[in-house]
Amino acid sequence: MAVINLEAPFKERVANALGDSHLAPAVVRATDRMLQARHKAMNSIDGEGLRTQTRQMKEDVLRHLPDYLEQLERNFQANGIVVHWARDGVEAGEIVRGIGLQNGAKTVVKSKSMATEEIHLNHVLEQAGLKVVETDLGEYIIQLAGEPPSHIVAPVIHKRLEEIAEIFHEKLDMPRTMDPTEITSAARVRLRNEFFGAQMGVSGCNFAIAETGTICIVTNEGNGRMVSSMPKVYVVVMGIEKVVPTVEDALLQLQALTRSSTGQQMTVYCSMTSGPRQPDQPDGPEQVHVVLMDNGRLQMLERGYGEALLCVRCGACLNVCPVYQEIGGHAYGSTYNGPIGAVISPALAPEIARFKELPHATTLCGACRDVCPVKIDLPRLLVDLRSDLVEAKTNPRVEQLAIQGYVKAMSSREMYERGGKFASVASNLLAGLTGGEIKWMPPPLNGWTDHRDFPPFAKKSFREWWEERQKLRNRE
Ligand code: SF4
Repeated sequence: MAVINLEAPFKERVANALGDSHLAPAVVRATDRMLQARHKAMNSIDGEGLRTQTRQMKEDVLRHLPDYLEQLERNFQANGIVVHWARDGVEAGEIVRGIGLQNGAKTVVKSKSMATEEIHLNHVLEQAGLKVVETDLGEYIIQLAGEPPSHIVAPVIHKRLEEIAEIFHEKLDMPRTMDPTEITSAARVRLRNEFFGAQMGVSGCNFAIAETGTICIVTNEGNGRMVSSMPKVYVVVMGIEKVVPTVEDALLQLQALTRSSTGQQMTVYCSMTSGPRQPDQPDGPEQVHVVLMDNGRLQMLERGYGEALLCVRCGACLNVCPVYQEIGGHAYGSTYNGPIGAVISPALAPEIARFKELPHATTLCGACRDVCPVKIDLPRLLVDLRSDLVEAKTNPRVEQLAIQGYVKAMSSREMYERGGKFASVASNLLAGLTGGEIKWMPPPLNGWTDHRDFPPFAKKSFREWWEERQKLRNRE
């Protein structure tokens, strides 16, 4: 089992991922399966029409975000839901911790949620002495392993069955077994006990309906429904972009999300909560709280990366990405990985340079844009980020100087020609030493030759060749 060091420098994390011979095959197997299912699900309907409609709806939400959020807040409150606003992740974490402590919670059961991963909520709650139990099977496995998720919808995509069996043996003292049914049954028994004993449930939110004040979470295991209905306190942490105007819009997004992520026509469970339990109802939470969290989303809009807020977190762009398939999610070192992670991690961060390597860790092949259910132009956003990073001078000094030198040389014909001559002589000299192709160059150019040969420059420039050709023609 590879040891994950998320604090290691980016290149080291990537090298570790590439050095793990089991990682890429496991990721490719799982992502290919999801992509094939997506392809079938989108082609069985007017997939293009669904993408267009979903994008239009999400664009409308972004254009009128303050209005929809106010409507959502009003209807939440009318339904008896307590609304909290959080400017950042620290505030959001403090609000959830406060609710837990005020209600004497000892155990918190959680449904899979990227928003709570984003603010490291488990850590915040555990620091306050609360026991946090992830109840999605994949999340439960990586919680036992002490790892963060490596995919937006399939958190344990990087692990093989052998590794999962070993985790259950080590952490739960379960006899080693390679039978997935036995492993799942063991998890189910343990998680059921946690549901019965928990005082607080926490989830994210796939979408919240403004016109009805309703929270919707989609799962395939039913754990979301238990998290939202069994404990006496239910807390939802949602990014402010998750609001949708109407029930019809929610159903539209649900279609786009499920078909794009797992290739299902509908998830097994779609749990909707429109308030705490009423006196005539047999069950449900006594309190429902919603934390509406910004945590950099408005800043994303201001920075010009608002298009990424259309994302419905389906994971299709990860599945199709040739870089993600090779290195998996942990190498990105961020809660969000793959192409969408390479955009929103730096765009959400207070300093764009915090994840400065990620916009470069892409091929710009465009496959992510083609599968995205809301047609986010991820390659363009990545190029914009690269440009902003250069403007912010986040690249190494030596690279900045090299680019300045290059700009100067390209602006002067004389310097360009001299530079070309020098490059031709030097590269052909090196090529002569190593027999044709250049196999070694001094630092920092060895970044190229460490991995591939470098063809020498042409002995004559195009201009020289052209002039010679013209002379020959004139003589004829
Ligand atoms: S960017 Fe598009 S494809 Fe990627 S997770 Fe978001 S919605 Fe899905």
